[in-house]
Amino acid sequence: MPQSRRNFLRAAPLALPALAAALQAQSSPYRRPKLKITDVRTAQVMGHGYQLHVRIYTDQGIFGHGEATDSVLGGVPLVRSFRNALIGRDPLNVEALWERIRLNGVFAGAQGGQYVTALTAVEIALWDLAGKALGLPVYQLLGGKVRDRVRVYCDSANHHPDDPLAPQKLKEIETMGFTALKIDIDEAGDPNRFDRVNWTANNAEIDRMVKEVAFVRGALDKRMDLAVDMHGRYDATTGKRVAIELEPFKLLWLEEPVPAENIDAMRDIRQSTKTPICCGENLYLRHGFRELLEKRAADIIMPDIQKCGGLLEARKIADMAHTYYVPVAPHCVVSPIGTMASAHVCAAIPNFLALEWHWVSRLSLWKSFVKEGEIIEKGFITLPDRAGIGVEMDEAAARKAQVANTPWFEAGL
Ligand code: MG
Repeated sequence: MPQSRRNFLRAAPLALPALAAALQAQSSPYRRPKLKITDVRTAQVMGHGYQLHVRIYTDQGIFGHGEATDSVLGGVPLVRSFRNALIGRDPLNVEALWERIRLNGVFAGAQGGQYVTALTAVEIALWDLAGKALGLPVYQLLGGKVRDRVRVYCDSANHHPDDPLAPQKLKEIETMGFTALKIDIDEAGDPNRFDRVNWTANNAEIDRMVKEVAFVRGALDKRMDLAVDMHGRYDATTGKRVAIELEPFKLLWLEEPVPAENIDAMRDIRQSTKTPICCGENLYLRHGFRELLEKRAADIIMPDIQKCGGLLEARKIADMAHTYYVPVAPHCVVSPIGTMASAHVCAAIPNFLALEWHWVSRLSLWKSFVKEGEIIEKGFITLPDRAGIGVEMDEAAARKAQVANTPWFEAGL
């Protein structure tokens, strides 16, 4: 009798049905870790900015740690208000918990701001917890990694041509191995300003901005990318003029020449210049990025993964952007815990460009913040294979920057 495929499989020592049954048994929901959330606690740290740290505890002795930043004032009572949606629940159902908390807050500001930022810290803690419970790094739970290491760019304040130390400091950043750098050219204290309220830059202000960019560009190796931030302070006339004046410098991007809320104004600037426009650090959830993408108002988007809704929400935003062939360069000012959490998303999305790092002037706190020490090597973060986010807070070091008179992961918030 000719050997059919079916006969062969039946005869195989480990027949397919048996293999399938074995696989099913091993991966059955009944074999998965049974966890219940027992507590949610917070701590607050002042680093580059205000950090809200959230820990979610379980009845199995493991906890997850998440961090949010910037719009975290009022975050502690908000996290407290989420407790009822978390305590007693299975932390592995991250999306269900996230959606429940978000929908609970539809009339309490869950469209953005502090509410979504507090939810972000909780969501990241849940992913850390899920990874630890399943023995997998978070990137694996976000679809797996498309790259082993994540490019990091350095924020620098060394852009003043009159500063005699600036060239040396810029060279030091190059020596550290970074391949991209960002400077800020908005200046509230510019002595050329005629009016302290209006943000129409005059010729002298624009000349000052161009000189600063020319100075930094000239001090850097040609291979180093340069991005420039205007922090969304100026009006549309100024944004358009500056974007055109900076075209010869072939910037990696010009960031928020106007505030990001008026998508049409951002699109007008983008359409008027060859300089790539980047924005999005103050937008929340997929909804915050939908119109920006639909109207082609930005060349690059920069969600802040520590406030836009969380790791999975950031992945969803990045996937939306990918359908428009728009790259993602996340805003990031948090500790090594939040930065590594962001790096897991950056490792998982094809359209990642570069991740921000804002600690070159605070190196001692940065390097001591987690037990694993420095996480950036030669301008890149290599994703660890440890379970969860893969870094753990060094509490003695982090506590040196604790916000006075705030709880430190004490029970009962
Ligand atoms: Mg910015």
